[in-house]
Amino acid sequence: MSIYNKVVLALDLSDEFENIFNKAKAVLKEGGELYVIHIMEPLDAIYFSDAYGAASVQFQKAQDEMQTITKNRLAEFCKNHGVPESQQSLIIGSPAKEIRKFAEEIEAEVIVVGTHGRHGMGLLLGSTANGVLHGTPCDVIAVKV
Ligand code: AMP
Repeated sequence: MSIYNKVVLALDLSDEFENIFNKAKAVLKEGGELYVIHIMEPLDAIYFSDAYGAASVQFQKAQDEMQTITKNRLAEFCKNHGVPESQQSLIIGSPAKEIRKFAEEIEAEVIVVGTHGRHGMGLLLGSTANGVLHGTPCDVIAVKV
């Protein structure tokens, strides 16, 4: 079933991503491109205000540190799975919106997500997976996790 030339795999970096990765690989045509992305939601901007003085500086430091740790985790995953640096992205923003936007920008043929991630347990389809499905111009594969 290797039918896609350009695949976007959206990972929430929880523990379930091995199965999702294998499915993304399975639908990728030989010689095709697999992009692995993670979207990091920004900490609430309100706490960066001067009103919080030194605490807001600490807040900024915490965000920078989280970003570095997350970038390293993504890089390690990609290294272990043979995904080149040019095909991995850490994006700051709202997950469903940024996943759709990224796929549109690179003209992906399919987006692969898990049916559930950290947010979606208990739902038929998690909120990010559902959000990706609505308004995406390409195919979406939701891998059962
Ligand atoms: P959720 O709908 O949040 O339960 O997550 C379902 C799936 O959406 C996950 O298995 C991932 O494939 C994707 N996803 C959720 N959050 C993110 C994120 N922050 N960055 C990239 N992909 C995500």
